[in-house]
Amino acid sequence: MDSKQAARERLGQARNSLLDLSHRIHAHPELGFEEEQACTWLAEMLDQAGFAVKTGICELPTAFSASIGKGPLHLGIMAEYDSLPSVGHACGHNLIAAMSVGAALATAKVADDAGLTVTVLGTPAEEIGNAGGKVLMLERGAYKGMHAAMMVHPAPMDFVQPKIIAASMFDVHYTGKEAHASAFPELGINAADALTIAQTSIGLLRQHIRQSDRIHGICTHGGDAPNIVPAHTAARYIIRGETVKDMEELRVKVRHCFEAGALATGSKLEIKGGDKPYTEMRHDADMAEIYRRNAVALGRNLAAPESMARFSASTDMGNVSLALPSIHPMIGIDSLPAVNHQPEFTAHCISPAADQALWDGALAMAWTAIDMAADPNLHKRLLARH
Ligand SMILES: [Zn+2]
Ligand SMILES: [Zn+2]
Repeated sequence: MDSKQAARERLGQARNSLLDLSHRIHAHPELGFEEEQACTWLAEMLDQAGFAVKTGICELPTAFSASIGKGPLHLGIMAEYDSLPSVGHACGHNLIAAMSVGAALATAKVADDAGLTVTVLGTPAEEIGNAGGKVLMLERGAYKGMHAAMMVHPAPMDFVQPKIIAASMFDVHYTGKEAHASAFPELGINAADALTIAQTSIGLLRQHIRQSDRIHGICTHGGDAPNIVPAHTAARYIIRGETVKDMEELRVKVRHCFEAGALATGSKLEIKGGDKPYTEMRHDADMAEIYRRNAVALGRNLAAPESMARFSASTDMGNVSLALPSIHPMIGIDSLPAVNHQPEFTAHCISPAADQALWDGALAMAWTAIDMAADPNLHKRLLARH
């Protein structure tokens, strides 16, 4: 039996337990760095399959690594499992977790024969937007010795090389002074006005930024009572640019908008976070092509959809891709008009189309791993890195 057929058979044996894993994670959403159950479930499943598992790596309680095989080509498969506040698994990370475990189980069966070492990295807190799991794990050595990395992410439709741009999330705090809003307003310093001015300035700034730039945020604290001049307001913002360089230029402009609010009202401004941004992604063209071929062989529709023309998102997989050759294809779960980060998308992440995507994504990754090891030029290029 050839390796790919053997991988498919092994995946078939795990099919029910992978579907159960995906649905269970979906039913128990956990926020970034709190994914205790999901991390345990993945680690247990890989441990039972003979992987050498280490949990709590890189000083992160919900991170793990699970390795198998002794081949020269060392591939990393990323498993995300964090959810979003209030909308649950609206980004389908339950599917990412199950696809990555599935790909690893299928590949493990043939790892030594194919010349592979496979490591699943459990990478917490992708949605967090600053200092995500992969950023910290990169800094702390989790990717040392790895030649390439991959993962597959759910989306409304398939897309092999999605546009992944740099992003930075940060918190903004204004401090003013309380006063009776009617009796003694002249003694107050209005921190809510400061945020209003900042938001107005950012609105005006939108005329003067690149089309590829993004600025979006929420007010996380707007005041305490209408008859108390707000002395403390807070907001959480994300800025994005095609590259870290673009994004850092945008950061200066956006900062000026927040400073304008402080200046106009006499409030004190403090900005926290944003120190460990997500970078843009560099897709490895050879790996992407191998994935594309395998996804097509599985019957996936990879015609670049027009509705993806404006698509740009960010992930800490970008940071990984600048450190080692990587891919991050999107896999469709036939959810339109529902899209990522909507509660309707959450519902789609356990649909029959999502379950099919789990199978296809896992097998496409396993087959990509097998083909990568068998491709002499790619093999040579990847191994030459260490
Ligand atoms: Zn997301
Ligand atoms: Zn996501």
